[in-house]
Amino acid sequence: MVKVSKFGGSSVSNSNNFKLVKDIILSDENRKVIVTSAIGKEKDKDNKVTDLLYLLYAHYKYHVNFDNVLSTIKDKFMTIKNELNLKIDLEKDFNEIIENIDLGEEYIVSRGEYLTAKMLSEYLGYKFIDSKDLIKFGYNSKVDYDLTTKAINALIKENDKVVIPGFYGSYPNQKICLFSRGGSDITGAILSRCLNAILYENFTDVDGIFMASPKIIDNPKMIDELTYDELRELSYMGASVINEETIYPVQIANIPINILNTFNKDNKGTLIKKDAKGMNNIITGVAGKKDFISLNITKNKASNKIDIISFALDILKRNKVSIESIPTSIDSFSIVVEKSSIEKKLYDIISEIKSNEDVIDLSIDDNLSLIAIVGRNMVYKPGISAKLFALLGEEKVNIKLISQNTQELSITIGVDNNDFTKAIKAIYNGVIL
Ligand code: ASP
Repeated sequence: MVKVSKFGGSSVSNSNNFKLVKDIILSDENRKVIVTSAIGKEKDKDNKVTDLLYLLYAHYKYHVNFDNVLSTIKDKFMTIKNELNLKIDLEKDFNEIIENIDLGEEYIVSRGEYLTAKMLSEYLGYKFIDSKDLIKFGYNSKVDYDLTTKAINALIKENDKVVIPGFYGSYPNQKICLFSRGGSDITGAILSRCLNAILYENFTDVDGIFMASPKIIDNPKMIDELTYDELRELSYMGASVINEETIYPVQIANIPINILNTFNKDNKGTLIKKDAKGMNNIITGVAGKKDFISLNITKNKASNKIDIISFALDILKRNKVSIESIPTSIDSFSIVVEKSSIEKKLYDIISEIKSNEDVIDLSIDDNLSLIAIVGRNMVYKPGISAKLFALLGEEKVNIKLISQNTQELSITIGVDNNDFTKAIKAIYNGVIL
């Protein structure tokens, strides 16, 4: 029986935290496969090693001396090595990294996880395995599961105890390929899937997933259990405890994920699984993001709506703009997209859509926020939307967009950016608390 246990950057940010991590790992025989992020922030104002490595590479690229950045990074590793009396030859490792700087940004940035995992493996007495040999990408930057599963089965035996760096793997030509930021979560999920783990533990620095963002709500309640789909909805809409791409590999293999706190190890955390147990709350959580834009298109009454919608969508597809929502009425429809994804090409896209002679008007609604109210218990429960809209009405929040599909897992509303915080507070206090 194997549990894959992943530790985030703050869990390995100093020697004391290395000790906490070791205690946690050694307290459970099944914690055999350990994945780590690079040394993260000790305090809020601190810098993550990953960010410093990006900075180092930028200095190199623009021919600026990087000695200071390099020594800040080295210090972080050296301090932990010295305080834990480790033997790792960091001088040699750093020399090799700088000699190979031409291998590119992804190589340099991956060295944060690489060295952190090497130190942790020595400290635990577990074997180190380089993710370059385990996580195999195709040239399309997608994980090749066949090759990855073969590599994992060849390199990790049933009772091996191993430490693996998160966040990267390799292309067929052995060059390093990174996941998106926060991607050590994905490494853990892939290993869990390929090893058929009984549980994927994701240790971080909060007690689990909150019902609403603690940046907006003081001391929000914790979610004890939720389904994979609920988590996808919440993390897509900005609940940022784990990387959104983590869910898919474990969901198809039906492996539960437990979000746990390294600094509060007796807390049960949040459990994510297929059949999350029942709870009294109708709403599991609320999450939202600001800065969407809505393209409102009005068509000529005699024309066919589906032709115009597909014409507009094709333009967005060619421009690689992904779509959040398409509310429609008889002669008009809106296409809602993330502002940052369209901003640079907005006017070209507008004029291309307007070039269709059946489009008689195109207006823009800027500064839109989307808020998702998520809950597996909403199905077949009349009155929830009524309550929700009444609450927002009492707070004088104007709702610009409403969307829910028939699976009833979530209701998404669009409000003005200025009403974002007010709306989340009203929803949390009115339908969650
Ligand atoms: N160190 C990487 C980052 O900061 C990956 C991770 O921590 O998961 O994004």
